[in-house]
Amino acid sequence: MHNRADAVIIGGGIIGMSVAFYLAKANIGQIVLLEKEPVPGSGATSKAAGGIRAQFMTKVNVEMSMLSEKLFCRFKEDTGYDALFDRVGYMFMLKTDEEVAAFTLAYELQKSLGLNVEMLSPAEIGKVAPHVSLDSVKAATFSRDDGLGDPHEFLSGYDQAARKMGVTIEYDAEVTEIKTSGGKISSVVCSKGEISSPLVINCAGPQAKLIAKMVGAKLKVEPVRRQIVTTGELDFITPDLPMVVDVSSGLYCHKESQGLLMGWADKAVEPSFDISIDPDYTDAILERALELVPQLETAEIANQWAGLYETTPDHHAIIGWEPTVKGLFHVAGFSGHGFMQAPAAGLITAQMIKNEETLIDISALAPSRFGVGRLVEETNVI
Ligand SMILES: Cc1cc2nc3c(=O)[nH]c(=O)nc-3n(C[C@H](O)[C@H](O)[C@H](O)COP(=O)(O)OP(=O)(O)OC[C@H]3O[C@@H](n4cnc5c(N)ncnc54)[C@H](O)[C@@H]3O)c2cc1C
Repeated sequence: MHNRADAVIIGGGIIGMSVAFYLAKANIGQIVLLEKEPVPGSGATSKAAGGIRAQFMTKVNVEMSMLSEKLFCRFKEDTGYDALFDRVGYMFMLKTDEEVAAFTLAYELQKSLGLNVEMLSPAEIGKVAPHVSLDSVKAATFSRDDGLGDPHEFLSGYDQAARKMGVTIEYDAEVTEIKTSGGKISSVVCSKGEISSPLVINCAGPQAKLIAKMVGAKLKVEPVRRQIVTTGELDFITPDLPMVVDVSSGLYCHKESQGLLMGWADKAVEPSFDISIDPDYTDAILERALELVPQLETAEIANQWAGLYETTPDHHAIIGWEPTVKGLFHVAGFSGHGFMQAPAAGLITAQMIKNEETLIDISALAPSRFGVGRLVEETNVI
């Protein structure tokens, strides 16, 4: 292992790999990525549902995702590796006047930022998503720019492209200590040895808070369990079926192989690193799924798993310099939308580290925003 580097990235999930790729492209010198597990993407990235959307409620989230969608589309051109962004669209189904009012505001914001988004009537919803129940449905927002992707395909593309440009990726390398000297980062200690570096990038996903703690910093990222269930083959699945979100129940579902993948955020789950499957959580997903897709009555469960969201108090990512120690940069806390925002996160991080003007204004994502009354909450979290 190298004993010195110009930058050390902690975490080999989709965020760390995207950062590695864009930093290497920006020619910042010797980059070493440290991942505690024996294979890449074994953390939250391996649990993601693969949803990619720009239909958010805040400007910064819409812009982060729109930039990412652009970068997902030209992934092969940029990295040299294939990965499919399947633009089947995302539909948010609305059942109450309050939901229609909130999503109309978001729709106007999204349109003003250039997103291709439509407001659909129940009859139009039935045409785009014939498998869902239209009971009590008043309207839906739908964007054909949104869609699905396999996080591992994209992660593997970044991984290979970053290596080709000279990035060293070390597995089984758990970071246990970050040393500082005179208020600046000086080195990183991991299970394979010590590397001196003036720059450390914290991409540790749900564990990001533990990395910050190593230098006595507080990072507002909490791990929260989320579960997913998939079904066996279903005869109504077609290749163009969009991601559907029932805003009232919070249930989301999309095609997965020849079946459906279903997920739901149980807002009552307390923060912890527990990723065991809770059968009550599974039942709650199935109950909501049956309401949304009545044809699931006879479906078989094919698979289920639990993983961790890396949640911040305002459900926005944290991207920026740690204010208390020089040389520590956080790219964490994506609150359940880290896969879809990974390309923009990597590119913007490289621009900030190079001290260049960023493509979009992400001052709203600064680590220093907490506790100073600057929070604007993202409420469309699924
Ligand atoms: C059930 C579920 C569904 C989801 N669905 C979606 C979705 O549809 N769309 C979407 O955009 N997002 C989704 N997400 C969120 C998405 O998975 C995350 O936002 C994203 O994967 C975060 O990537 P990451 O690289 O920051 O974290 P991770 O993938 O967790 O990577 C962090 C890495 O850091 C490593 N690490 C931690 N501590 C150390 C240490 N001390 N030393 C070395 N390495 C360390 C970990 O082993 C891990 O590999 C979902 C998440 C879950 C749980």
